[in-house]
Amino acid sequence: MKTFKIGGIHPPENKLTEGNSIEVLPIPSELAIPLLQHLGKPAKPVVKAGQRVKKGELIGEADGFISANVHATTSGTIKAIKSHPHPGGQYAPTVFLESDGQDEWLDGCNTEPQDWQSFSKEDILNRIKAAGVVGMGGAGFPTNVKLAPPKDKVIDTVILNGAECEPFLTSDHRLMVEEPEGIIEGLKIITSLFSTPVKAYVGVEANKKDAIEALAKYASSYNFEVVQLETKYPQGAEKQLINSITGRKIQEGELPFDKGCIVNNVGTAFAVYEAVCKNKPLIERVVTVSGIEIQAKKNLKVIIGTMFSDIISACGNIPGTVNQVISGGPMMGKAQYSFEASIIKTSSGILFINNEGLDTSRERTCIRCGKCVEACPQELQPWLFTNLAQRREFDELPAYGLFNCTECGSCTYVCPSKREIVHWIKYSKAIVNNRKKRKSA
Ligand code: SF4
Ligand code: SF4
Repeated sequence: MKTFKIGGIHPPENKLTEGNSIEVLPIPSELAIPLLQHLGKPAKPVVKAGQRVKKGELIGEADGFISANVHATTSGTIKAIKSHPHPGGQYAPTVFLESDGQDEWLDGCNTEPQDWQSFSKEDILNRIKAAGVVGMGGAGFPTNVKLAPPKDKVIDTVILNGAECEPFLTSDHRLMVEEPEGIIEGLKIITSLFSTPVKAYVGVEANKKDAIEALAKYASSYNFEVVQLETKYPQGAEKQLINSITGRKIQEGELPFDKGCIVNNVGTAFAVYEAVCKNKPLIERVVTVSGIEIQAKKNLKVIIGTMFSDIISACGNIPGTVNQVISGGPMMGKAQYSFEASIIKTSSGILFINNEGLDTSRERTCIRCGKCVEACPQELQPWLFTNLAQRREFDELPAYGLFNCTECGSCTYVCPSKREIVHWIKYSKAIVNNRKKRKSA
């Protein structure tokens, strides 16, 4: 079994929905589709209030190189385009779409699967771009950009990320069990884009035996390896996954392609398959709805733009003991301040957390125990970030590898003094970046 060499933690897995098949959530009457569901600039709206649209129709056009198209996720009428709560914590421009109940596809979208082997590489990348495919594991980086690295970078390794190391989340797990063929077809499409010989892997944590079996069935029809990974957080972080599978180490300032690697989430590979073979835009995804307290724990196929309030109603409302709702996993997800925020392309789960699961004791002085250093997979000194930030010595932090921190949260998880290490790291990054911007303005 493979794993990364440095740091990592073992939080309780709590994969409470791992055996629950994917259910389809009925289409809500109103959708709030954010124009920002990716890294980079929000898409530019190309529709107006009052306009009728069909499912799959473009409603927001990528604005620049790092941006992505956004599509209508059902048929209906555009009601408004306005600023609205976003699951990332900010407000973002959002298209409000009233469903007509017909769910009528735009002509030419979501066709019978076509044979992609006759498509040129340019055609394939154009289809992925047109469909608005972005990294679905959380980063939201436009996939067509990721799959076209600079010409001087020699890619010899393509990895699909099926680790899903965050506690509670099982959306990737269920997709691997239920749609392995589409995922592997996506992997074949991705590897076909590189002219050098490429070794292909799917990395899956050992706690997903049925997913490993489902994918391995396709290994005889295509030369790739399903790598069983130790169940250890953050096994699914890009740098740790590359280290686990290839032994290569991505240094500070490097990107995976600097070490010959391209990594995509299994959900992204499935979206690539649907975009290229079925001309289907990325308009839906699997979302885990979980938490110790709630009865209706599910893996739901949800159309993008479904508001959290609609998911909550469909799952039988929330018990009064729940005091925090998180979009994503408990380690890297975001606590929500509004149930009117919606599911976006990167939403892997909604978690309902109660007081019992939270350590609410107050932050205390660092006792120099070194546990955060031991847990850090990036070989950093997390205690030092917090101490320097609290002394407001922000400019000192980059020299200690501030921007090499992946915000995985392992340090905060193990700290016996409940130091808010990740909070201080994020705050420091924002301050340092703002100072840089001001200097260059
Ligand atoms: S959040 Fe950053 S500093 Fe903390 S363990 Fe993860 S990589 Fe290390
Ligand atoms: S784990 Fe907490 S108390 Fe221990 S060294 Fe790190 S910051 Fe200090």
